[in-house]
Amino acid sequence: MSSRTAFVTGASRGIGRACALSLAAAGHKVVLAARDLQKLESAAEEIRAAGGTAIPVSLDLSSEESIKQAFAQAVQQAGPITILVNNAGITKDGLALRMKRDDWESVLQTNLTGSFLCIQQVMQGMMKERWGRIINVASVVGESGNPGQANYVASKAGLIGLTKSLAQELGSRNITVNAITPGFVDTDMTAVLSEEVRQKMLASIPLKRFGKPEDIAGAVRFLASEDAGYITGAILKVNGGMYM
Ligand code: NAP
Repeated sequence: MSSRTAFVTGASRGIGRACALSLAAAGHKVVLAARDLQKLESAAEEIRAAGGTAIPVSLDLSSEESIKQAFAQAVQQAGPITILVNNAGITKDGLALRMKRDDWESVLQTNLTGSFLCIQQVMQGMMKERWGRIINVASVVGESGNPGQANYVASKAGLIGLTKSLAQELGSRNITVNAITPGFVDTDMTAVLSEEVRQKMLASIPLKRFGKPEDIAGAVRFLASEDAGYITGAILKVNGGMYM
């Protein structure tokens, strides 16, 4: 097993935290990035307690300056980043008719532009190493659409297009670019949904349970591994069968 440096955005909680723990368990050094440094520190402690290496860095995807600083700090402390997990994401739901432009733009900025800028930060280093894994966490709704989430869905569908384009641009450099489309996963993001909505969703999931952050982390860990070396431009559904 070769040890590499992985950078995980949104690693302070939910899916990102599970990805960071899983990549550390696979033997990689992990840079954990998000806005809340205190929460990152607690995730980092868990990794260190298990014998892994964790480096928390402050990152705000809505600021290009913050992105540049976070990657500079990460490379300085952990060496070249050859695994990037673009996981951080936000929702600002509402019907399109009443959606404020700010809510449209901030979701696109964080989920799509932020991910693109993170990729730009690691591309050259990966080319130099002649090895790279870029994994974008999109969403089932980026494939299916969803009323009340035009901004979020556009950002996630954008990530899918970005994944396929960059898989073609970077393939000759031995850099794979893939996306994962999670279904309904139990995290802070979905905790706000009503019991009625949850039950309706559950009925549409063939596996009859919601996803756990670890379900997504397992797929991320696989796509980051040597075993996934011939997979690029793939959109891996991890959704319990809710959308096929
Ligand atoms: P979550 O529990 O809400 O966690 C979001 C993470 O992103 C946090 O670590 C948060 O940390 C970070 N983040 C938010 N805004 C940020 C910013 N501007 N800059 C840097 N970091 C930021 O979300 P989750 O449910 O784990 O979702 C993770 C990813 O999976 C998201 O992209 C989401 O769209 C996708 N997804 C989730 C589900 C689901 O059912 N949960 C389904 C499909 C796709 P700070 O607040 O400290 O910055």
